[in-house]
Amino acid sequence: MSTNNRWRYAAAVHSPEELTTLFRHRGRKVTPQRQCIFRILHQNPTHPTAESVYATAVAEMPTISLKTVYQTLNDLAEMGEISVLDLGTGATRFDPDTGGHHHLVCTSCGAVRDLFADYSGVVVPAGLEQGFEVGEAEVVFRGLCETCRAGSPAAAAGARRKGAGALLPPAGVEPTN
Ligand SMILES: [Zn+2]
Ligand SMILES: [Zn+2]
Repeated sequence: MSTNNRWRYAAAVHSPEELTTLFRHRGRKVTPQRQCIFRILHQNPTHPTAESVYATAVAEMPTISLKTVYQTLNDLAEMGEISVLDLGTGATRFDPDTGGHHHLVCTSCGAVRDLFADYSGVVVPAGLEQGFEVGEAEVVFRGLCETCRAGSPAAAAGARRKGAGALLPPAGVEPTN
């Protein structure tokens, strides 16, 4: 069992109120639209796309624009308050937790969830570094989420074909194609 604090949730997440203060301190404009986006991101386990943040925001605040959503996400990423992830789901995902952690990715619907487990044992074997000074490993496990597993057998089979060879790669190894 690991007692490593790096894997503890929320250590790297700022509340909407803290983000408002941070934005102001950096001389950036805080509008009700931006605060709405802060709230949507806070403790959001889905790793939303910009479009899904926009869809949620516009339901609450019809005056918000997709441009504002992109600009706010860009600003947050620049400030190091969110991580920008490409997990192979076809769209950029945004993660409000910038602390070190891993991910579960559904190969059928693209669902993404955090995985807080200690893979500090994952190392590049000696001699295979290719001149790299190797840092930490981020592990992505691909498979089917609970919803897709409960779906029709045909849909599940289709998902398995699409993700063939990529369902359960060895820890830390991305499929090459
Ligand atoms: Zn799924
Ligand atoms: Zn995450």
